[in-house]
Amino acid sequence: MTEDPFADVEDFIRQRFEENFQQLTLESGHTLTADVKETALQQVLLYWRKLRHVAERVTDTEVRLSLPNQTSPQGREFTIEGVVDIVRADDQTVMYDIKTHDADYVRANLELYKQQLNVYAHIWQELRGEPLDGMAVIATDFPHAVKDALANPDPLALPAALQAWQPLVPIEYDPAHKDRTLYAFGETVDKIESGEFAPPPLERLNETIPGALTHERFGTRICRQCDARFSCASYRQYARGSRQVGERRMTYFTDDQPDQELWRDAGLSG
Ligand code: SF4
Repeated sequence: MTEDPFADVEDFIRQRFEENFQQLTLESGHTLTADVKETALQQVLLYWRKLRHVAERVTDTEVRLSLPNQTSPQGREFTIEGVVDIVRADDQTVMYDIKTHDADYVRANLELYKQQLNVYAHIWQELRGEPLDGMAVIATDFPHAVKDALANPDPLALPAALQAWQPLVPIEYDPAHKDRTLYAFGETVDKIESGEFAPPPLERLNETIPGALTHERFGTRICRQCDARFSCASYRQYARGSRQVGERRMTYFTDDQPDQELWRDAGLSG
């Protein structure tokens, strides 16, 4: 018998994670750097450790919700789709949306999440005729305290950090959010169909994001994850920035990062 009652489950998660990773790498021709892959695995494992009580009670997993026949402000038809998990227990039905964002960011930008989940709630209740008693976002990006604890040799550090972590963010049901979201989606559909792809101005990239790490800006938090950044005029301006900061940012364009060899190899063999 193993000492840790959940060791078998975590071994299973590691194995499935690796299988999924290999499959996605083959399908896409892209890979992840070693540190990003390890962080992704840690997110899954810690999600399990912290929210086992939710994960074990999920009754409907990866439920695909679809809202067809929507019309944009300029008269174009579009469909909204989303994927959620459902827990039906103790005469209650709760909808969960798993996000790879951190909980502080979700709480500070709650309006964005309310809009999205209220559309899903509308589909679930009004179109499917299913009951719904609550909604929540599960924010799987663990905080710095947990990251520090993972590197701390003290065996009590991680349990204490996990205890303090609050990744569940309840979302209030408000049908008015659904209409605003549908309108905003429609506006985006019109822009895409009209070929309007201009990036936001530099001022937007310099704005500090609410709930993000101290002084983290849009250009750092959002743009650095964006595949279009190397051909984006606003990001180029942002990367030049002030001289000192700009030099650091410009390394994104100019320097070989240690794991770039791995990315290149994966791209060539994909
Ligand atoms: S880098 Fe991407 S996210 Fe940032 S402004 Fe340009 S297109 Fe938008």
